[in-house]
Amino acid sequence: MPDNQTEGSRIRALLGVLVLVQLIFLSAFASAAGLATPRSGRSDRLTLPVDALRTGQAAVPETIKVLMPDGNVETMDMDEYLKGVVPTEVGASWPYDSLAAQAVAARSFAATAHRHPEVGADVCTTTHCQAYNPANRDERTDLAVDSTHKVAALYQGDIIHAYYFGHCDGHTRNSEDVWGGYLPYCRSVSCPCGYTEMWGHGVGMCQEGVKVLAEAGWDYGDILEHYYTGVDVESTEPVAMTWYFAEGTTRPGFDTYLCMGNPSDAEAHLTVSYLVEGGGNKDASYTV
Ligand SMILES: [Zn+2]
Ligand SMILES: [Zn+2]
Repeated sequence: MPDNQTEGSRIRALLGVLVLVQLIFLSAFASAAGLATPRSGRSDRLTLPVDALRTGQAAVPETIKVLMPDGNVETMDMDEYLKGVVPTEVGASWPYDSLAAQAVAARSFAATAHRHPEVGADVCTTTHCQAYNPANRDERTDLAVDSTHKVAALYQGDIIHAYYFGHCDGHTRNSEDVWGGYLPYCRSVSCPCGYTEMWGHGVGMCQEGVKVLAEAGWDYGDILEHYYTGVDVESTEPVAMTWYFAEGTTRPGFDTYLCMGNPSDAEAHLTVSYLVEGGGNKDASYTV
């Protein structure tokens, strides 16, 4: 899209131009908020200890070690694991944003879980950690996992312990009132789930409430940010800042142009460096 004719003419007659594009995002990609949609209280984490405030975990790991029902510890791709969790924790027929919220909560929970150190596993397959059963896999929940790849809920840059539970009684609970440990992102908030009694520990995300909010049109990010106070829901995938274009020419008779797309809502500022014959660079700047 940037018109490169002027720059091109300046370095016309150069053969074999190597173009290097540096893409600098003004602001990191827009965050997609996500909230986990726990289904009817499958997970009961009443015994969870509240860990230190900072998890020190800024990115979602590629894999997770899962203690299987037969006692073996299996190293799984994170999203493959989540595809067996989401449809086991909630109904695969639930609205997309509730499934995406559950996927992000489950991913955040898994990314910070080191709950079976005695056998070298991060999680088990029961509600002690997160219910996992690949027999429940469904294309709708697979999509919710794939479309939120690497997305997590973060508090001050750390992925959170994303606790969730079946349903509340109209409001969730402060972590310290249930477990004695204070987590700033586990505050009591109002919830539209419509139940009058609690199913589960009440800390974090109310799965039935997530379903109601998704049905009302909330997107998964807004849902997650409602239940986890002060979090950002965003991708933890590092952003590539530099690309190399190995082909190009500005010889006479050629139209010189570059096509650069910016998928973000925010403006991106680019520096294009032409590595010219004989050494040295010629730089041009664009806003996309
Ligand atoms: Zn466990
Ligand atoms: Zn609720």
